Amino acid sequence: TPASEKGKVDCLVVGSGPAGLMMANWLSRLGVKTRIIDKRGTKIFNGQADGLQSRTLEIMDSFGFAHRVWRESNHMLEINLWNPDPQGNLFRSDKIPDTIPNISRFQQVVLHQGRIERFFLDSIAEYSDIRVERGVLPETMDFDESKAEDNDAYPIKVQLRHLSEEEATPKQSATSANGAAMQDGLFRSNLSGDDSEDLLNMSRLNDKAGSTETLEAKYVVGCDGAHSWVRSWCGFSLRGEQTDYVWGVLDIIPITDFPDIRMRCAIHSASSGSLMIIPRENKLVRLYIQLTTTEKIGSEGTRIDRSKINPDVILGSAQRILHPYKLTYRYCDWWTGYQIGQRVGDDFSLRERIFLAGDAVHTHSPKAGQGMNVSMQDTYNLGWKIGAVINGTCDRTILKTYQSERRRIAQNLIDFDHRFSRMFSGRPAKDVMDEEGISMAEFKDAFEKGNMFASGLAVDYGKSMIVAKEGSAEDQGDGTEVMGSSGADQGAHSNQSLATGIKLGMRMPSFKVLNQSDARPWHLQELLKSNGRWRVIVFAGNILNPNQMRRIEHLGAQFNSLESFIRRYTPDSQPIDGVIEVLAIHSSSRKSVDVFALPAIFRPFSPTEGWDYAKICVDDESYHEGHGEAYKNYGIDHEKGCAVIVRPDQYVSWVGEVDDYAMMDRFFAGCLQKQKKPHIGSIDAPERMFGG
Ligand code: FAD
Repeated sequence: TPASEKGKVDCLVVGSGPAGLMMANWLSRLGVKTRIIDKRGTKIFNGQADGLQSRTLEIMDSFGFAHRVWRESNHMLEINLWNPDPQGNLFRSDKIPDTIPNISRFQQVVLHQGRIERFFLDSIAEYSDIRVERGVLPETMDFDESKAEDNDAYPIKVQLRHLSEEEATPKQSATSANGAAMQDGLFRSNLSGDDSEDLLNMSRLNDKAGSTETLEAKYVVGCDGAHSWVRSWCGFSLRGEQTDYVWGVLDIIPITDFPDIRMRCAIHSASSGSLMIIPRENKLVRLYIQLTTTEKIGSEGTRIDRSKINPDVILGSAQRILHPYKLTYRYCDWWTGYQIGQRVGDDFSLRERIFLAGDAVHTHSPKAGQGMNVSMQDTYNLGWKIGAVINGTCDRTILKTYQSERRRIAQNLIDFDHRFSRMFSGRPAKDVMDEEGISMAEFKDAFEKGNMFASGLAVDYGKSMIVAKEGSAEDQGDGTEVMGSSGADQGAHSNQSLATGIKLGMRMPSFKVLNQSDARPWHLQELLKSNGRWRVIVFAGNILNPNQMRRIEHLGAQFNSLESFIRRYTPDSQPIDGVIEVLAIHSSSRKSVDVFALPAIFRPFSPTEGWDYAKICVDDESYHEGHGEAYKNYGIDHEKGCAVIVRPDQYVSWVGEVDDYAMMDRFFAGCLQKQKKPHIGSIDAPERMFGG
């Protein structure tokens, strides 16, 4: 590191929970100089979040480690609903699929947060020298707002304090008579106050640790959880409410005669509260157990006395809800308690220099298995944008789309959790006249509808500089809209009717296609790796038709011309596909076409590695895995095809005619940065390679 760069970093990530790790993971792929710190001395080893939704698995797959999660996790396939009959006795009223069939190639799985953090740490280490620095926290911060718009400035100064091991280790509270040593999660629960200040004070007293350093940063991302220090520093707060509903969590190996213990279950008892069963890996089962308000576990107003919550109290509640079935355990892996509340922040960033993500901007109850997923998806949205600005491929305006896209998701999440948790915690209606009770038919309906939201696949980003759809631009939350010099603004219009199954603003759906060169089937999403590249997917149609082939050849020539948008936005230090990658999927018979039939841009040549054989695919029958029917499923005309622009995070920006080069150009002009030294190198093999 040159002396002038010492003590400087492009991005400082505060907190290494799921949101912080996803952020660091993106930056590890984009070559951004990053530090990530966490006040805790270790990662977590058990407990906390465990549910992973379909979309989260797709994202992990795009980084290359979903298979580790898929293999180790417990797969949740069915939900069983148990309700009281008119006499108040529990019976199984319904069985519904856990994940809506055919919405993704992944279904919901459960695996504890500690393992998920492990996979992230391995992935970050594989691609970079970024390491989580533990026992480190920010003590003071200073932000020179006058430099906020200066790309080269480091406007944020942060003083970091290093803790001793003892300081960085959270204290565990009491164990129960039922179990020996076990971990509890109360130190991270919303029943605990924030301990950052205590840690700082302890550290100041401790001569041996307590060293400090000053760091200058271009960007700071606060992923420091519900009690976020970064949020407080910005002077932002969360708005929302806390309920009286208190729930306990037990991670146990249950011993029970309840028959559905290996199914996800939602159980409403007649008058003892509700319980949710989440079967986990290694024979573990997580029980979410309502601690009924009538038990008055030390409630003072709405603040609960956490010392009154222990595994025995939680188990007692579970036994009453499950009656007449029996439940006990010998092994408890982890437990906690929490009070249901929903809160969301108005501001996700300060001048698009200091950002907040994850629990730092939205908190809610854990039962719907959303917090970790939405938190990771926040930084999945933000990471590539910050990377692109730092690397000089995008203008800073793009950073405004973080708040405009994610705040609405956070608000939807809060609304969803508000409805869902009240339905879960309410007493079941005795009959149709019982207006205060919760109708079990409505509960089932809410569960089924909620499954689409909960999968993470319903995310539909609004019109902006990076989503060329009709309608008005998304609100920033402060009344301003994300237009600026936007593609949408300059008239980069889409034609959604050319691909009815590829929705603008939503993630690119996946169907199987075959590689033209080696006949291997791939899910299209597998080709859309998270490496920071935009993609133009050319659904080339029937290229055996000479007219159609002429369109594709003309398009290929435009892509390859020295003035093309691909060359204009790609620095000459990068390969031709380093910023915008062009993929082709044609619909002719695989056996009648070969790779060299398509223009060079679809198979660019590198002097050291030869031609790229991965970019040309075909919608055809495979030998062993059937026909993906991609064109049919995407709603694309087999003859004429279409073109689709996909963002680096797999969301769809634009859909248009296959050869509408001008509109693609207009779209990219709205968000990418012209390079001082654009890419002018050849993309095809020189004749002399073959001795010519
Ligand atoms: P956190 O995971 O809270 O991480 C914040 C990190 O920042 C921590 O490591 C902390 O040590 C560090 N930190 C805090 N302050 C500072 C500071 N000042 N300086 C440096 N570092 C700091 N979500 C799901 O999606 N699915 C589930 O099934 C699920 N189940 C849950 C079950 C329980 C019992 C609980 C309590 C939560 C559950 N959640 C679930 C929610 C999920 O745990 C959170 O939403 C998720 O962990 C949020 O991620 P995050 O990275 O934003 O914050």
